[in-house]
Parts: sequence; structure tokens; C-alpha cells
Amino acid sequence: MYLPQEIIRKKRDGEVLTREEIQFFIQGVAKNTVSEGQIAAFAMAIFFQEMTMDERIALTCAMRDSGMVINWDHMGFDGPIVDKHSTGGVGDVTSLMLGPMVAACGGFVPMISGRGLGHTGGTLDKLESIPGYNITPDNQVFGDVTKKAGVAIIGQTGDLAPADKRVYATRDITATVDNISLITASILSKKLAAGLDSLVMDVKVGSGAFMPTYEASEELAKSIVAVANGAGTNTTAILTDMNQVLASSAGNAVEVREAVRFLTGEYKNPRLYEITMASCAEMLLLGKLAKSEEEARQKLDRALDSGEAAQRFGQMVHGLGGPADFIESYDDYLDTAEVVKPVFADTAGTVSAMDTRAIGMAVVGMGGGRRVATDTIDYAVGFDGFVRLGEQVTSQTPLATIHARNEQQWQQAANELKQAIEIGTSYASTPDVYRKIRASDV
Ligand code: URA
Repeated sequence: MYLPQEIIRKKRDGEVLTREEIQFFIQGVAKNTVSEGQIAAFAMAIFFQEMTMDERIALTCAMRDSGMVINWDHMGFDGPIVDKHSTGGVGDVTSLMLGPMVAACGGFVPMISGRGLGHTGGTLDKLESIPGYNITPDNQVFGDVTKKAGVAIIGQTGDLAPADKRVYATRDITATVDNISLITASILSKKLAAGLDSLVMDVKVGSGAFMPTYEASEELAKSIVAVANGAGTNTTAILTDMNQVLASSAGNAVEVREAVRFLTGEYKNPRLYEITMASCAEMLLLGKLAKSEEEARQKLDRALDSGEAAQRFGQMVHGLGGPADFIESYDDYLDTAEVVKPVFADTAGTVSAMDTRAIGMAVVGMGGGRRVATDTIDYAVGFDGFVRLGEQVTSQTPLATIHARNEQQWQQAANELKQAIEIGTSYASTPDVYRKIRASDV
């Protein structure tokens, strides 16, 4: 017989909780027999005392098992079920290419994605800029599209990890979001409820990352790899750079346009290509669809060059209610803003730093993201044609093209962008991919 307040006391005093105690507490969260105040105290105790890896595994599994855990056995997929999750960034449109690319190489990617959070964009918001695309299909349609296209990207349903929903809502209002034990369990409980064989976790580093320092990103990555593998899902983390906008664009419809152009070979931003390839290659390795990174990359390039990946994306869009000819006619379907014009640098020099978080907030400021959960999104606004770090600019060089609804909005975004991009004399280069952390590394 356990009592929530005794479990909280134990954690408060720095003791290690048993699997049974954690299960009892989380079952109480799901059944509403544990109060919001108790969740807040539990989260604060963990915030100060942290959890061992075994406790984190128990917390993740208990939250995963608080709702439905998808079992794909009846679908007869003839390949591995693989997925990727990112800690969020600006211009991070990777999932839209990665899912179809891995599907074209024999993987099955039933991806449950999220909305934008703070300054970061959300895959679901981007996909909702496609007319008709349904992010909440029933399980049958989700499974059928995954089987046919090899990929289906949808939103979280209420039955997946409901305990996390309550815990997260309480953390959000009690200053307990930024804790590695809690973040690990929160992210993984939702991902692992999707019934995956393996997972690649893209943990961002830099001025637009969720975690404030390289060391904190690395610590989160190690925690996720240890816990996910401990919970039985083959997982690798990749630490990737978010010191500048990842794609050439940031917004919703503008990023979908870039994703389609990437898939059809019209334009591939080199950083976006490198980071997408790194995650995809790891997914093929974990899923045993390639024996080496080199073989994985060859397969992925073939999937792009043959048009197979683009075709998979088109199948997914159509299967989930979007237009059948989206790949060919995307410009006819995506909303456009009224004022589309470039903003120029004030001075000549080298692009030496970007406040990527501020650029994400400039998108939110134009209505391309939410300030509160109930805000509606303007899909058309955003930026494209971003300069890169290290580029030489003059007063004739566009820093980006702004897609705004009116002149006033354009001006505001232009001011914010100029403030966020530092023009100096030098630039310290950072890698696109810092390191991979595999199960054997933790
Ligand atoms: N995203 C989540 O889903 N959970 C966290 O705790 C932080 C980010």
C-alpha cells in the first residue's frame, strides 16, 4: 500500500524510488486520484533531486503504459518500424523529407508529431498548411497510410501517454519543465507508445536549441539513449547544430515548399541535406536496412534521385486527405502572403552569429506560431532565402525574404531579423553534426 505523499517525501529527501512506487504514482495521475498539487510537488522534488537511470526508465514506462501502446503486429509491415524525434528548432523541416526517404528505403515510419512550442516550429503546423491534410485520422487510416506510403505523420491522440499530458501541464505552470529526468520521460513516453522498433533522437545544440548549452544538450541526449534502450527501444541520439536556421526558410507554407523542392531535387540546402541524411542513415542502420553508413547514404540518395521519396510524400499527403497532385502543383495549394520582399544588411561584413531563438520568435510575431495554445496560425507568413553563417554580405545582400501580410508586419519582422543577425569580421565555424550517441556509449 503506497501513499502519494510518502512517495513525494522520499524523493524530496533524495531517496531512490522503486519501480512499484513510480508506477503507483503515475497510475494515480492517469486515474485522477493524485491531485495537481501532488504532481507539482513530485515534479519539484525530481527537479532538485534528479532520478537515477532506473527511476527514469520506470517513469517513462509507467507514463507510456498509462494509455494505449500501439501494436502494429496485425498490419503485417514487411520492414522495421522506425522513427525520429527532434528537440525542436527553427527551420527544422527534416521530418517531411526524412519520413518519405526512409519509407522509400524499406522502413515504416508512423510518426506522431507535435505542434510548435515557444520559438520552435511544429511539424503538424507545417503539414496543416496543406489544404485537406488531416492530422487526426482514426487508427485504421493511420495504419493503412503507413502501410501503403511507408510513412504517415499525424498528431498525438488523447489515448497516447495521457499521464504525460497531466504531468506536462502541471510542469508548465510550476517552473519544472527544464529538468532532464522529466524531459526524458515526457518525450519518450509519447514516442515509445507508438510501438517503434527503433528511434533516432535529434538533440539540437546552439542559439535556437531547447537546452541552453552544449553540455546540457549532450546530457539530455545521453539520458534519452540510456532510458529508451533500457525501455526496450533501440535508440541513437544525434547532436546537431541549431546556431542558425536549419533550412533556407522558417514558417509553415514556406517550409513545406522547401521540403517539396528538396524531395524533387529542385533545391537542397546543404545543411538541411547533411542533417537529414545523418538522421536517415542512422534510422536505416538501426532498422538493419543498411550495413554501413556509406551504404545507407547511397540508398537514400537513390530514393531522392529516382523520385521515389517524393512519390511517398505525395502518397502520404493524399492518403491523409490532401490533394492527389500536391507534389506537382504545391504552389497552387499553399497560401501566399501579400508582401513578399527581401530585407538587406545594414553593413558589409561576415555573418558572424544568429540569434536563432529570436528569429523563431519573429515568425511567431507575424502569426506563424502561437503565443498561447488557443492562437490560430497564419500559414503563409515567414522567411525564406536566409543567409548562412560565414557568408560575406554587403548592403546589397538580402538577409532573407520576408513573407508578410502587410507593410507594417514586414517592417517589424525586418527590424527583428536585422537585430538577430550579427554582421562582424569573423566567424567561428561549428559542425552540422557534433556527435552520435549510441547505446554502447552510455
Ligand atoms: N517536449 C516534451 O514533450 N516534453 C518535455 O518535457 C519537453 C519538451
